[in-house]
Amino acid sequence: MAVRGLSLTGAIVAVSVGVLLPVVLSTSVGIIAIATEKSTKELVMGVLIVSFTCAAIGGAVVSVVLLGRKARLARLQSDLLANVSHELRTPLAAIRMYAQTLESGLLASDPEHTRQSLATIVRESERLEATIERVLNWRALARDRAVVELQPGSLRGAVTDAVERFGRMVAPGEVGLVVEIGTDAPVDHDREAIARVLLNLLVNAHKYTYEDKQVGVTVQDDGRSVAIAVRDNGIGIPRSELDRIFLPFHRVEADGASRAAGAGLGLAIVRHLVRAHGGEVEVESRPGEGSTFTVRLPLSEREPA
Ligand code: ADP
Repeated sequence: MAVRGLSLTGAIVAVSVGVLLPVVLSTSVGIIAIATEKSTKELVMGVLIVSFTCAAIGGAVVSVVLLGRKARLARLQSDLLANVSHELRTPLAAIRMYAQTLESGLLASDPEHTRQSLATIVRESERLEATIERVLNWRALARDRAVVELQPGSLRGAVTDAVERFGRMVAPGEVGLVVEIGTDAPVDHDREAIARVLLNLLVNAHKYTYEDKQVGVTVQDDGRSVAIAVRDNGIGIPRSELDRIFLPFHRVEADGASRAAGAGLGLAIVRHLVRAHGGEVEVESRPGEGSTFTVRLPLSEREPA
């Protein structure tokens, strides 16, 4: 990874040769001077040389760590830009294509196709907006600006908001979506934040299921917490990746399956928001069979407002 024209490996080699080598040599001289001390002057010189070399080693180590961190940050930023651009390109291309067809007047005498084209433009715009929101959400969360305002109440409103919005993002009949809200038990929650959590999970269920997309959402309580589960019959996640998918910018690349574009922020946002509610999110998945993400939020001990 290049940092302003200098590669990280090059920088490490330069620091090692330019600083560490002379430092090691002078340390040896200092130690020899202390060991074979013939006068107080030589002892003082030895101690000074060793102290100086220790400080230099410390400085070199700090420089290498800082360079490494800077290189990692630069790589994350460029990956994020590449991944987000990639994710934006597909809906943008569809919007342009349908808009150009409408502009050409080819569909002027075909109201049904005109309606379908307009519906596609609206749908793809929703997807564009959702992708941009993910990046902005993450930016706010990373700066600790996203404050959740918890109110006691049923999760029905948040679930309905997310499901309705998701419905506007997919073509009619594209996903078999079944929603079962089996409880109205009160949870201290921020309606918008929980809708965002569920929307991210629904978008992933859609994105990582390629054929015969079947998605189920259930809301149940066990007397202590309310669980929102999102189940899909998609490509699944390799076991070795299950812990890492919630890390920001982490994407599953290694299982050979061709995976849809993404910035790797959706699940990091989910976990962050769920934890802000005192809850947890977990996943069960089998490659080739599907995944179930479960969000557990503690039951409210307050009376609904
Ligand atoms: P993104 O989807 O933008 O890559 P996420 O943080 O939402 O970022 O997801 C991280 C990774 O977890 C994805 O790259 C994907 O490989 C995997 N993943 C998430 N949800 C699912 C799912 N429902 N089915 C299969 N893989 C999933």
